Amino acid sequence: MRLFGTDGVRGVVNEDLKPEFVVRLALAIASYFGSGSSILVGRDARAGSELIQDIVMGVLASSGLRVYDAGLTPTPALQYNVKERGFDGGVMVTASHNPPQYSGIKVVLSDGIEAPREVEEEIEKIFLEERFRRVSWRELRHRKTLVDDVNEFYVDGVMRLVDTGKLKKSFRVVVDPANNVGALTTPKLLRALGARVLTVNGDLTHQPYREPEPTQENLEYLSSIVRDVKADFAVAHDGDADRAIFIDNLGRYMPGDRSATLLCKHIITNRRDNLPRRVVTAVSSSTMIEDLLREYGVEVVWVRVGSIVIARTMKSLGAMAGFEENGGFMYAPHQMVRDGAMTTALMLELLGSEGVPLSELYDRLPKRYLIKTKVPLKDKNLVNDVIGKILLSYGGYRNITIDGVKVIGPDFWFLVRPSGTEPLIRIFVEADSEGKANEILKDLLRITSEVLK
Ligand code: MG
Repeated sequence: MRLFGTDGVRGVVNEDLKPEFVVRLALAIASYFGSGSSILVGRDARAGSELIQDIVMGVLASSGLRVYDAGLTPTPALQYNVKERGFDGGVMVTASHNPPQYSGIKVVLSDGIEAPREVEEEIEKIFLEERFRRVSWRELRHRKTLVDDVNEFYVDGVMRLVDTGKLKKSFRVVVDPANNVGALTTPKLLRALGARVLTVNGDLTHQPYREPEPTQENLEYLSSIVRDVKADFAVAHDGDADRAIFIDNLGRYMPGDRSATLLCKHIITNRRDNLPRRVVTAVSSSTMIEDLLREYGVEVVWVRVGSIVIARTMKSLGAMAGFEENGGFMYAPHQMVRDGAMTTALMLELLGSEGVPLSELYDRLPKRYLIKTKVPLKDKNLVNDVIGKILLSYGGYRNITIDGVKVIGPDFWFLVRPSGTEPLIRIFVEADSEGKANEILKDLLRITSEVLK
């Protein structure tokens, strides 16, 4: 039985995440860390997250752990505090980009990075076998301690890394934190960096005005706001503010791998950090990053889809940055986790350094046409047959088979992979022209239906 998905335990509050389930899960987490460990616990602003945080903190304390309450805070702020302030670990109560009825629990280790799969498996084992380590009442000396400055500490940490000498102009920025915890950090950070900020959906007491996932469809209104107030750009976060999606000054939505490519180039050419010229990203990202950064000697490491794999690979190999195409960007000198405020600060610094509008930088990227689609999959065992047939058909091209199959040609790439959560095959095709992309998609759909029929 698997409790942890690709990013923590998630579920609808009081349906999947019932209090008694949360108690057992928290007992298992407490038993993993052990009595005496210091754990920082934070939450997002979803309706169910406060009660789950209360249960988690109570159970950790009952198991003899020292519990520190971070209150409302973005996931990257909690992670930064865990890493920099010497906690033994952290628990974040959030469902990130999921709809409002969801909440979730994410375990963070002392390095601030989400627990790897092996640790999750250990916690699942303790949960199933009910091997809970309980302590005598005599050991219950510690009450929970409120930490008041988790968000300030995080904003200060980001500020320290920004080259403010590059920010000669006062930028006009629209911030949309989806009525959630990003409202507590990003507007403050941008103002401290001299920007003029307009915050929309910044009220944490409201039910979300938009769906917490920063997709193009969910952000259409933000494009018109950018044009109305003549902003230099807008930034939209997901529910726990680890992702940052940008809208350029013309109101155009930028897919996360496009903004990440610009930021990586900025880090190399303007910041000149003394770090390994290595960028880690998932196979679902565009190969544009390789094409653009090859001339700077950057190695791109392709990994399976999932932010934890990216973070853990960055840490083991050494890297300057990592990213996902959904807006999750990791800047190594700050922390190797998705980091909405740090990403926003880097965007501001990029615009200050280049001295041209974001739309111009966006237009300098190669023009590529992207299609995403999915095919229902009744029998999971057939995925390997689909992949095998594609490899035969596209044998002349470079391929990566760590997560489905990614094939890279001179003027196209595509990815065919099974979904981690649903009975689906996902297909991404990107090419220099719409015609070429459609032609490849047609071919992939033909191969897939031949195997699946
Ligand atoms: Mg998130």
